[in-house]
Amino acid sequence: MKNLKKADPQIYTIIKREEKRQKEGIELIASENYVSKAVLEAMGSVLTNKYSEGYPGKRYYGGNEIIDQAESLAIERAKKLFGAEHVNVQPLSGSPANLAVYMALLKPGDKVLGLSLDQGGHLSHGHPLNFSGLLYAIIPYFVDKKTERINMDEVEKIALREKPKMILAGFSAYPRSMEWKRFKQIADKVGVLTGSLTYTFADIAHIAGLIAAGLIESPVPYFDVVSTTTHKTLRGPRGAIIICKAEFAKAIDRAVFPGVQGGPHDHINAAKAVAFGEALKPSFKKYGVQVIKNAKALAGALQKRGYRIISGGTDNHLMLVDVFGSKGITGKEAEHALELVGISINKNMIPYDPRKPLDPSGIRLGTPAITTRGTKEKHMETVAEFIDQALVNKDSEVKLKKVAKQVKSFSLKFPLP
Ligand SMILES: *Cc1c(COP(=O)(O)O)cnc(C)c1O
Repeated sequence: MKNLKKADPQIYTIIKREEKRQKEGIELIASENYVSKAVLEAMGSVLTNKYSEGYPGKRYYGGNEIIDQAESLAIERAKKLFGAEHVNVQPLSGSPANLAVYMALLKPGDKVLGLSLDQGGHLSHGHPLNFSGLLYAIIPYFVDKKTERINMDEVEKIALREKPKMILAGFSAYPRSMEWKRFKQIADKVGVLTGSLTYTFADIAHIAGLIAAGLIESPVPYFDVVSTTTHKTLRGPRGAIIICKAEFAKAIDRAVFPGVQGGPHDHINAAKAVAFGEALKPSFKKYGVQVIKNAKALAGALQKRGYRIISGGTDNHLMLVDVFGSKGITGKEAEHALELVGISINKNMIPYDPRKPLDPSGIRLGTPAITTRGTKEKHMETVAEFIDQALVNKDSEVKLKKVAKQVKSFSLKFPLP
């Protein structure tokens, strides 16, 4: 970065400070990860200079022969990774990808069934201030009060009553496996009632890397359309892709461009190709196996220290901890105390939370980032101890400082990629 240092010392210093923060802290935000140097280099390449509205072989600007090769490689690798019939690699991020999916399949006002936002759904699954909630009639389904897992019989009951145009399955904060096949069966039952197709849409933004590694079941064989971000467990650049059955390819491509976006970000799409190449290697499967092992170990280590884990554990990379129910500490207080010791997490609603979204009962923790740094199960015991020490001593500046020191020396043992 010697050019940046010279040309813009202010931004250079900011980047260096952020790099230091990342090196010295424990990253437990479930949606974050660290990309490889190779992915970073592709993102920082001259491909950013090019305009290439359209798709490979069908561009609105000249000079795209080489860009076409990069985008085609990204598409080919994504198809192989997910066993997909069609992939669009141009979505700029998860939310615009979802906007394109809704646009491709629905008309404003159409009914969509999705997981309740306060039980793990995403902003783009019907938040009243998001396009999804503004444009479509979103009907929520819920997790069971007792098991804290999605109750598929309940989903079926709501679906048959409401007859939605689309059933959306996906989450930002749900620690358990999804019954993709059952969702598809329910959509087909609704289709029989209405005499038209009820679309199935899976948003695998959080778990795409674990699905690509073959570690949790994929919705791709069953669902009409699947969207995912590329920067979470998939460990690529910030962006998204849409996977679909061949019959929806035209509608999806048209919705992405010109429906939602203009020119694609060619440097990012090349970096997606690099990340997909990495994910196709056996080492990525090993990484995914460790992500899940670490999540289970961290959940277990916290349970041992008296914390209630929502649904009793995790099947994937994330967990929800009921810090208020377990220790009388609110999610906001927990987030603040952990930030002071260098541990990044986010406060999160728990199912049927008695508290409010801005200061909920829970926190969400995930292991994708710390696993990239090389931690194993035995280190989760240490991480759980840091978390417990920070929370128990949240009002003692002296004790928090001591934990912060330990967090820093622990983190420095595990270099960034
Ligand atoms: C993260 C996430 C998104 C959105 O991603 P952005 O890139 O932040 O727009 C969409 N859906 C789900 C389920 C997510 O977890």
